[in-house]
Amino acid sequence: MEKSEFKELKEQLLSTKKNGYDILDAAGRAAMEDYCAGYKRFLDAGKTERLCAAEAVRLAEEAGYRPYSRGMLLKAGDKVYVRNRGKAVMLAHIGEKPLDQGIQLAAAHIDSPRLDLKPNPLYEDSELAYFKTHYYGGIRKYQWVTIPLALHGVVILKDGTKVTVRVGEEEGEPRLVITDLLPHLGAAQNKKPLAEAVPGETLNLLLGSEPVGGEEESGRVKLAVMKLLHEKYGIVEDDLSSAELEAVPAVKACDIGLDRSLIGAYGHDDRVCAYAALRALLDLEETPAKTAVCILADKEEIGSDGVTGMQSAAFDTFIEDLCAAQGAPLRACFEKSFCLSADVTAAYDPNFPDVFEKRNESQLNYGVGLCKYTGARGKSGASDADAETVAYVRRLFDQAGVIWQISELGKVDAGGGGTVAMYMANRNIATLDAGVPVLSMHAPFETVAKLDCYETYKGMKAVFQARSWRED
Ligand code: MN
Ligand code: MN
Repeated sequence: MEKSEFKELKEQLLSTKKNGYDILDAAGRAAMEDYCAGYKRFLDAGKTERLCAAEAVRLAEEAGYRPYSRGMLLKAGDKVYVRNRGKAVMLAHIGEKPLDQGIQLAAAHIDSPRLDLKPNPLYEDSELAYFKTHYYGGIRKYQWVTIPLALHGVVILKDGTKVTVRVGEEEGEPRLVITDLLPHLGAAQNKKPLAEAVPGETLNLLLGSEPVGGEEESGRVKLAVMKLLHEKYGIVEDDLSSAELEAVPAVKACDIGLDRSLIGAYGHDDRVCAYAALRALLDLEETPAKTAVCILADKEEIGSDGVTGMQSAAFDTFIEDLCAAQGAPLRACFEKSFCLSADVTAAYDPNFPDVFEKRNESQLNYGVGLCKYTGARGKSGASDADAETVAYVRRLFDQAGVIWQISELGKVDAGGGGTVAMYMANRNIATLDAGVPVLSMHAPFETVAKLDCYETYKGMKAVFQARSWRED
């Protein structure tokens, strides 16, 4: 075989995935930087699901979206949103085609792993005051000690008054911390398996050390802390029982790497896809052919249950309300709909090659990562998109010039993960997973590549802009 013939045959027959930087032109790179600057602001504004939902609503209103109320008459081009209890948001840009032709949907989640306060959190031990925490989502506990933490959330008083708590974000404000053992006394701890070295009951937030009152009194530091909280927020200890207070890393999003090609932040999972889906929807210049819907859900990290999770009927209710105005049955809408389940995937990490199967991993800078299935132990818990759906997205992304890759999450027997895909697919909506590859996922500080963030945004936009899905 001639050398030229070999080359030709190779190009014709073999996969030619390229590093995105070998594809993206100068204009694309500028647009990527611009997009990522907006994403970093979004991250800093939304460190909890409530804050993230509020920021999404703010951006939506800026883009001309208005609150939806049941019975509202909508026409093509109208833009509406529904806020689900302040913790999830659903947005729709009404399309030209009737809703019985289906919707084009992107679903992402805006909750991230963190440390929630227990219902009776405040205590004093050895003249130090602490909050007890109960971690939320799959964290590696050893990563959450000895880092500066901020506290966010709400306290609802008995009369229903909502008090917003925010400590540790701004320059000059105090931070909270969870202490760890010094190496000098860590010999026994060092011998424990990583998962057991830092027990959940030691994840206690250090709040203060200065007592009030006379030295004959007890509980002086706890009282001093409660006094500060009362002065600042008007709350008493019992009010903490009806509160949602979340400790999150007190870090801001920043560029990572000497070349600034990466972004480090808390909560990329899954605000990186949430922002891509939201921004793509808000940036639609023309009325979409089919109604474009974006859902930013809560509770994914603990199984998508609950009123604000992706399994909640809130989503069906919203779409049914839109359908009812057109006399379209919800089931007809769902069976013709397409959903991109927009959640992060694991990026191949050369520091830990043992858990990855290199031929089937997402790689940084190779674009938005499609996942035909997630799950663990033989695809358990995966919706496993059909080949037709994958083919549709391939074609769509190629036509729109979206840089994409397809992967799994780790070696077959190494573990696995889930997303909201199955909850959409269970509704009879054809669904495919797609998202940004992440390094150190679920850590207090996760890393993603700017190029992949931008390509995910382009992919979401392509879904919303599609004229039709499959052959309908
Ligand atoms: Mn996720
Ligand atoms: Mn996650």
